[in-house]
Amino acid sequence: MLPRVNSAAIRRLNMVRVFHALRENPSCAQRDLSRLTGLDKATTSAIVAQMIEEGLVERSEAPRARRIGRPETALGIAPSAGLLVGARLEPGTIRIVSTTLAGTVVKQSQIPGSTDLATALRRLHEGIDAVVAASRPEGGVPPPLRGIGIGIPALMDREGRLVLAPNLGWRDTPIRPLLEEALGAPVHVDNDTKAAAMAERLFGACRGVEDFVYLTGHSGVGGGLFLGGRLYRGAQGFAGEIGHLTVVPGGRPCGCGKRGCLETYVSETSILAQAGERERALPDLWAAAAAARDGDPVVRSLLEAAGAHLGMALSHMVNLTNPGLVVLGGNLSIVAEFVLPTLNAALDEHALEPLRRDLRLLVSPLGPDAVPMGGIALAMDGFLSVPSPIL
Ligand SMILES: [Zn+2]
Repeated sequence: MLPRVNSAAIRRLNMVRVFHALRENPSCAQRDLSRLTGLDKATTSAIVAQMIEEGLVERSEAPRARRIGRPETALGIAPSAGLLVGARLEPGTIRIVSTTLAGTVVKQSQIPGSTDLATALRRLHEGIDAVVAASRPEGGVPPPLRGIGIGIPALMDREGRLVLAPNLGWRDTPIRPLLEEALGAPVHVDNDTKAAAMAERLFGACRGVEDFVYLTGHSGVGGGLFLGGRLYRGAQGFAGEIGHLTVVPGGRPCGCGKRGCLETYVSETSILAQAGERERALPDLWAAAAAARDGDPVVRSLLEAAGAHLGMALSHMVNLTNPGLVVLGGNLSIVAEFVLPTLNAALDEHALEPLRRDLRLLVSPLGPDAVPMGGIALAMDGFLSVPSPIL
C-alpha cells in the first residue's frame, strides 16, 4: 500500500511544480519545462499530456521566434481551465477579485461589509456571484469555479475555525463550513495577513524568496512569517502576531488586554487616534501621509515614532528568524517613506550586524489587493492540494 501512496504524492508534487512553472513562465516551450522544474523529459511530457487532456494546459499555435528549425509550440495554463475567486472580509468593506487559474486578474469589485455575520455572508455571496457572472467570456463557455479563498482579520486555527476577530466582533465561529454552505463551492480561509504573505510569495515581491517577514498595518498590525519556503503557522496556527510584541512596557492599552503592544503605536487606527489626541483630526493614513508631506511636525513625529517601534520589534524577529527580506504591506505602504528612516535606524541599532547587513526591505507591490490576491493564493493552493482531476 505504502509505495502506491508515495507515488501518488510524488506525482501530485510534480504536477504542482509543472503548474507553477507554466504559471510563472507563460508561453513556455516543453523543452524548457524540464529545466524549469528539474524533472526529466519523460516525466514532464507525461504530466503535460495529462494536463492537456484535462483541459488545464493548452498548446498555443504561435511558433517561438527565437528558435531555428522546426517551429515549437508554446505551453500555458488554459484561460478556460477555471476561475478562482479571492476576497478580503473587513468590517467596512468586502473586496473581491477573480482570476484565471494561473492568477491573472479578470474582475475586481468592492462592496460594503458588515459586522453582522449573516449580513456579511449574504453580501459576500451576492458579491462573488456578481464577480463570477462578470468574469464569463461573452458567448463563451463559462470556466468552472475552482475555488474561493478569503482573508479575514482574525485568529484562525488550522481547521479554518475563526477563534477571535476583535474588529468584526466575532469569536469561536466555524467560518469555513458556514462559508461553504453559503457559497456552495470549496472555500479556503485564513488570517488576512497570512493570506497576503502567500500572495507576495506567489505573485508579488517574494517570488523565489524562502525566508521573509511580511508586515501589514490596518486596524491592527499583522505579520506573516515564511521560513524555509513555507508559511510558518505555529502549534495552533496563530504564529506571526508581531502586533502584540511589547515595545513599551506599561504603554498604551491594547485590544488584546495587554499594554504597550506594537500595534498600539503603529496600526492605522492607533496612529489616527494618537493624531486625534494631539488635535490632528485625520480620516485615514492617506491624510496622515499628506500632512507629513506638508511638513506637519506632529504627524511627522508620530510616523517617525511608529517607524522606530516597528524597527525595534522587527529587530527581534530578524535576530530570531534571519529573514532575507522584509516587506511592508497593507496601509503601512502608504506612509512607508516617513516610517522607513527611523525603522532602518532601529534595525541598525538592535539587529545583529551580520543578519542586518544582507537584509532587504521592500514596500509591497500588491497594494490594496494583497489580501484578495491572498485569497486567490489560498484557492490555488487548495485546488492544487486536493487530489486533482489529473490524479
Ligand atoms: Zn496587544
